Amino acid sequence: MTGKIFVVGMGPGGQEHISPKAMEVMQTSDIIAGYKTYIDLIKPILPEKEYASSGMKKEVERCEEVMQLAKEGKTVSLISSGDAGIYGMAGIMIEVVNAHNSNIDVEVIPGISAATSAASLLGAPLMNDFVTLSLSDLLTPWELIVKRLHAAGSGDFVIALYNPRSKTRIKNLDVAIETLLQYQKPETPVGFVKHAMREKQEVHYTTLGELKNCDIDMFTTVIIGNSRTEMVGGKMVTIRGYKI
Ligand code: SAH
Repeated sequence: MTGKIFVVGMGPGGQEHISPKAMEVMQTSDIIAGYKTYIDLIKPILPEKEYASSGMKKEVERCEEVMQLAKEGKTVSLISSGDAGIYGMAGIMIEVVNAHNSNIDVEVIPGISAATSAASLLGAPLMNDFVTLSLSDLLTPWELIVKRLHAAGSGDFVIALYNPRSKTRIKNLDVAIETLLQYQKPETPVGFVKHAMREKQEVHYTTLGELKNCDIDMFTTVIIGNSRTEMVGGKMVTIRGYKI
């Protein structure tokens, strides 16, 4: 008897942003597994379930544990914040199952990612072409991140920055700002959201020139406008060009 693995994107935080499908698979799973912070968000919503929580930076071990449970015949939901396939657990889970030559079925359930939840709170900054960039150089070489910043800047893309700053990565955001200032004006609108759709939510507007003085942490998503981004009625909007 083999079980099944769902990798579930649970959205930014609150229950109202969890898709009905994500809720359904969590409800029908034998066990819900994931990083402790996310389990703590789900437990009050589904108090009757069995949980397997783990620490941060133990992603591969977490997936191996999930695979083991599925091998025993359990249906397991591995939860990940936002969308599980965007800097989340989905890819790792598929790789781990493949590395063990297992035939366990892995199904990915999509969720609302930080870029779109933050964008909705700021207005409509992602109205035209945009990129997401993670400033974490734990798994991606810093030189490659800088190369991508240049590409995004020279391409005049709106940029959603994930993992903008942590306690150990203080300088990365400063270098990113300096790099983008080579392509965009200091007045370029920037918005950032902390703890989107969670209790401690904060929504802020600034400019590319002022961003280095802002209080940005790892719970923040930063959206940097392009040459067509404006503040419209107090909200950040990237103009697509409709005649209004
Ligand atoms: N899979 C997640 C992203 C994980 S990477 C998703 O699709 O949203 C972790 C980064 O995502 C954080 O450093 C932060 O930049 C961003 N993030 C995740 N949840 C957030 C939230 N509720 N509010 C603001 N930013 C968030």
